[in-house]
Amino acid sequence: MARYTGPKCKLCRREGLKLFLKGIRCDTPKCALERRQYPPGPRTWRRQRITAYGQQLREKQKVKRYYGLLERQFRNYFARAERARGNTGENLLLALELRLDSVVANIGFASSRSAARQLIRHGHIAINGRRTTVPAQAVEPGDEITPVDKDTSRAAVQAEREMTEGRAIPAWLEVREEPLVSVVTRAPMREDVTLPVEEQLIVELLSK
Ligand code: SF4
Repeated sequence: MARYTGPKCKLCRREGLKLFLKGIRCDTPKCALERRQYPPGPRTWRRQRITAYGQQLREKQKVKRYYGLLERQFRNYFARAERARGNTGENLLLALELRLDSVVANIGFASSRSAARQLIRHGHIAINGRRTTVPAQAVEPGDEITPVDKDTSRAAVQAEREMTEGRAIPAWLEVREEPLVSVVTRAPMREDVTLPVEEQLIVELLSK
């Protein structure tokens, strides 16, 4: 079978890490990283020594790609994380986890963050009963996320859920059936972030 070489999988290969950008395919053995455990190019290829700056840049790109952010959006999140009390790197990651598109993907209402953004932009998702079309909207503890109360929205979410069946849901989120609702039971903590990242390197890069 021909190997998949789409742009999203190429990003994962570049990072050497599963970034879960292709929805349900990422959870299957069809994932390009599962099938190919060696880097592209001749088998004799060796990983080049990476500079400190390169490592910092790599961590930043990893987070940007995982959460699907443009550079400007990422910088805005970083600026807010710096202004907030506490650890800047941790503030940054937790703010990104609280984005509605990230939450919608984490609760299995969408197979990927990009699918979540599309569902939200098309007006299929509501927070506390109010429809929103803003993927970046931040959720808070106690918020309830549901499909909008329309057949088309319920069907759109259901179709995505069938693809994400069995996906583990983070401990700070809960999904209840009939009626379908997901509740933010608490604020996420650093250990809830599953992306392997050294956020301190991002802080060092952007604080120069
Ligand atoms: Fe492609 Fe998803 Fe695997 Fe990344 S995790 S390589 S996007 S299938």
